[in-house]
Amino acid sequence: MTGASGGARPVLLRLAQPDLGMLIEAVLDAPDPFEGGSFALFGWRETGASTIVTLARLILPEADEIGAGDGRVSINHPYLRRVAQAAQATRLAVGFIHSHPRGAAPKASETDDDMDSYLANYLADFCPDRPFVSLILSRVEQEIAVGGRVQVDGEWRTVARVAAERRPDVVAWPGGDRPALPPPPPESVARMTSAFGLEAYQRLARSTVALIGAGGTGSAAIPILARAGVGRLIVIDGDHVTVSNLERLHGSRPSDVDAATPKALVAKRTLAEYAPHCEVEAVVGRLPQRDIVDLVAGADLLMGCTDQHSSRIAVADIAARYLVPAIDCGGLIEGADGVVTGQLVQIVRFLAADPCPVCRGMISPLRVAQELLPAEARLDPARQVALATAAGVRHDPILSAVPQIDTVGYITTTAGTLAAGFAIGWLTGRFDPKFERLQLDLVSPCLGAVDRPQAAKPDCPCAASRGHADQNAAAPPIAVPAHWPAVRFV
Ligand SMILES: [Zn+2]
Ligand SMILES: [Zn+2]
Repeated sequence: MTGASGGARPVLLRLAQPDLGMLIEAVLDAPDPFEGGSFALFGWRETGASTIVTLARLILPEADEIGAGDGRVSINHPYLRRVAQAAQATRLAVGFIHSHPRGAAPKASETDDDMDSYLANYLADFCPDRPFVSLILSRVEQEIAVGGRVQVDGEWRTVARVAAERRPDVVAWPGGDRPALPPPPPESVARMTSAFGLEAYQRLARSTVALIGAGGTGSAAIPILARAGVGRLIVIDGDHVTVSNLERLHGSRPSDVDAATPKALVAKRTLAEYAPHCEVEAVVGRLPQRDIVDLVAGADLLMGCTDQHSSRIAVADIAARYLVPAIDCGGLIEGADGVVTGQLVQIVRFLAADPCPVCRGMISPLRVAQELLPAEARLDPARQVALATAAGVRHDPILSAVPQIDTVGYITTTAGTLAAGFAIGWLTGRFDPKFERLQLDLVSPCLGAVDRPQAAKPDCPCAASRGHADQNAAAPPIAVPAHWPAVRFV
């Protein structure tokens, strides 16, 4: 068997907790190096740029199901049959993951080649037309090196990139070879490197952050990320600049109102001036449009900056299905008639295993339905009443007696910059938010900081979708409305 050919589509491997921790403990750090192996089930998605493969569930060997023979891992048949049957009950792909000794490259040996061919053929009888994933892990210096390949339609594709949730020390060694280091950091980020180390800069430089929303919150986060050295930003927003945005949209100009400049383009223009090293992809569109899902499922981190309930649901769904760590941020002012009772900043963590915003009680179904209406219908009182009736709501505070005032620049800027800081913490592996759902109230003593963690509801489909990618049995929670215009790259 030959290895992956150079021209094939590259593979992005995504790993998240709790499976990533189990993988490190049971396979990489197994007491007997010859017993370091496990099968697993994977979701996947084909995008124009790559094949994204997501670890959905490890199926660890039980006693006597795996062993050492002639200095290599040997898999006993009951284990293989058990795995094939587990896969048949799903639409997921099967893979085998084994470890190499500390310091050894995660490069496939001839024995590994033979085993991969054998397993791929065996499993194809049980689960035809699904990829087969083969991964090798090893500890090399301070990092966990991952070599691997995926067989799709009979063709082997190389794992070229690994995105591991909050573990930037887990890195791809394409074809089992050590990757090249990025160039040394520029003088402008000397303070970042002195605070977090050279390695932190290198991690930021090879990172991609996708932002849903480039309004008040997003436009505050974007320059922070770019100036810190994030290598690539994907800026997604479906709207253009209106006159009310000028108060809080960083980088916007009065002339953008007449020109109807897309908000994503404002971000691109600003970054071209202030952070020319940062590669920017500006897109007019919304989640979960297909092209947008393709883009964000390939990012290292996703930021939700829209303050829309529908968008928050879609961001959390991407986090769970495709294992993209996400931070959602926003703010609001409570009060009426010039009396302000609360000025809230909220930051919500959406890791793959975190409950979705519906479980967390953050979603009004009525408001979701309202957000997905065409713009003219959103202002039509008759449509609002019809919607409320259809949803069985007779008196919804979101539709009548709204106790909220439009948010203002210092709130959106606070939310966006704080969230960007936590994004840098994850990308560098240097710090972690110590909350699940943080709320600050600017007019409470000591900002009234509270964490509002919430357990997943047992009947919510979010828990079952983790790592299932496009093979998830449940449909995405938000459908793309027919009136949304096609995605535009600007
Ligand atoms: Zn091996
Ligand atoms: Zn849920």
